[in-house]
Amino acid sequence: MTVDAPSAPASETRGFKAEVRELLKLMIHSLYSHREIFLRELISNASDANDKLRFLSLANPELLGEEKELGIWIEQDEKAGTLCIRDNGIGLTREDAIAHLGTIAKSGTAEFFGKLTGDAQKDSQLIGQFGVGFYSAFIVADRVEVLSRRAGEPTSAGVRWQSAADGEFTVDTVERAERGTTVILHLKADAKEFADAWRLRALVRRYSDHIAFPVRMAKQGAATLEFEVVNQAQALWTRPRTEIQDEEYREFYRHITHDGNEPLSWSHNKVEGKREYTSLLYLPAQAPFDLYQRDAARGLKLHVRRVFIMDDAEQFLPLYLRFIKGVLDSSDLPLNVSRELLQKDPEVDAMRSALTKRALDLISRLAKEEPEKYATFWKEFGQVLKEGVGEDYANRDKLLPLLRFASTHEASDEDRTALADYVARMKEGQERIYYVLAESRSAARSSPFIERLRAKGIEVLLLGDRVDPWIMGQLQDFEGKPFQDAARGDLDLGKLADESEKQAEEAASEAHKDLFARMGAALGDAVSEVRASSRLTESPACLTREEDDMSEQMRRMLAAAGRDDLPPGKPRLEVNLAHPLVVRLEATQGEDFNELSQLLFDQAQLTEQGQVANPGEYVRRLNRLLVKLVGGAT
Ligand code: ADP
Ligand code: MG
Repeated sequence: MTVDAPSAPASETRGFKAEVRELLKLMIHSLYSHREIFLRELISNASDANDKLRFLSLANPELLGEEKELGIWIEQDEKAGTLCIRDNGIGLTREDAIAHLGTIAKSGTAEFFGKLTGDAQKDSQLIGQFGVGFYSAFIVADRVEVLSRRAGEPTSAGVRWQSAADGEFTVDTVERAERGTTVILHLKADAKEFADAWRLRALVRRYSDHIAFPVRMAKQGAATLEFEVVNQAQALWTRPRTEIQDEEYREFYRHITHDGNEPLSWSHNKVEGKREYTSLLYLPAQAPFDLYQRDAARGLKLHVRRVFIMDDAEQFLPLYLRFIKGVLDSSDLPLNVSRELLQKDPEVDAMRSALTKRALDLISRLAKEEPEKYATFWKEFGQVLKEGVGEDYANRDKLLPLLRFASTHEASDEDRTALADYVARMKEGQERIYYVLAESRSAARSSPFIERLRAKGIEVLLLGDRVDPWIMGQLQDFEGKPFQDAARGDLDLGKLADESEKQAEEAASEAHKDLFARMGAALGDAVSEVRASSRLTESPACLTREEDDMSEQMRRMLAAAGRDDLPPGKPRLEVNLAHPLVVRLEATQGEDFNELSQLLFDQAQLTEQGQVANPGEYVRRLNRLLVKLVGGAT
């Protein structure tokens, strides 16, 4: 029995969603020089539609009916200037067509528009990365018709969708015998080349060889209409590695990611034995715009015995490897596996740890063999990979050599060094790996905490990223060399400081005890202690923390995350006894002494935290002293 939906008018015209309209405009202009990509997108959609039907037919075999073989057909009519791409997959209902081809913008569209720069070159790269999809048909067609019928629906429930990309589309309910979707492109006058059989064949071979379904075209020169398969029609990952060209791997990457950039590297492996599966993992060259969005899609495309099961199966890789793209084809998982089942299956855990190692090996290989590409990788994904140090204790040995840091050894804040290189450069007698935390790498470079280290030619890692305080809190040592925060504890230079230096320091501390006590009294509760500094050579003062106190950066990170139960943790004020201001301070008495002490404290706070507790007070205090200096009256 067929029931007409009474509320749906026979023919209705609707406006595209505003974002879709924008996207169309942008795409038609910015992708003009790569027009042929439309074919890849439409074949890719046809392949997705077949995948979906095959998946649903596992539970519902009658959906396939008599037509069990799934495929894709391409027909062109050079005279009429039309091109049809047909599949016999899942198909669209009238509601699907309205929603998916016009009124629902793909998730992430809003963010995507937020990223546009107005620079045509950059934007066209972005749009390639975003995945242009179905609408790319309008790059070559001035009118697009979609005829479709959803699998399992009666022939009276076909739909025709059409649009001339003029801001509107029309849908009609039509009689349709065929299951699945036919996309008909009415080619633009200057795009008639896409109705040429040879050109089309070449494009199919180039872009769709790896599509697992046969793509058929009319046999050339045959008297009657006869179709022949023009692609390999074999899922790429099922073929032996040695027979696959790099270009095929790249094309397959584009197919599964819609990323217009080439991947940096990939790893294709077949595991046999107790557990059997094939994985093909890729390292992208550019971070997606939603890398830091919690609900962004991530994970691998999961297949079971070559049947597509789901996109974004996130259970097979840890969160810190969320940038990895690829496919996984398991021989052991049941065909009816669901996300819920994946979460519980112990097999999945075992595969996850094997795939994690595989992915880390892939990254390590890039680091070793192609340092330049690795630098790109680090720039795009280093922040995310770093999260692994805290999350994945078991793989720490693999992760540490992958980390890269800005360093005083490098002239530019943009250059990076590996820990192994730092260790190789360590001075004789140096036992620790020194680092300094700050709001930015350039702030770290000019930090007072590293003045003495720098004066002695000791390399310091400059850490200015948001996650750094947390990461460094997790790390004890690298290859037996402990990490040392230059702002905490007594800057113990070990064998790097000579005996006479140490003795002189101790003597000086003793000789100026009185100064420290007076300053302590002037500053009251703000500091735990005032003492001579072993870190400073240029600045007059700095604030330091005890070795097991929380770093100031960590405290701020937690406070920003809403923690209000942090221990108070008072800093120590360290002063540079050789600095003229400190020398002068010692000879000062009364209110001037208090003011100058306070000013030194404020400055130390400013260099440590980028702000003072009370900026108004600070400026007034400083101005009073300046006015005195220039000889005015206060
Ligand atoms: P994507 O493929 O990334 O989802 P597209 O813009 O290519 O985005 O397609 C939008 C949606 O339109 C698809 O998600 C799907 O629901 C629907 N669609 C497109 N082509 C087909 C097709 N040949 N058969 C069935 N549905 C399709
Ligand atoms: Mg698509």
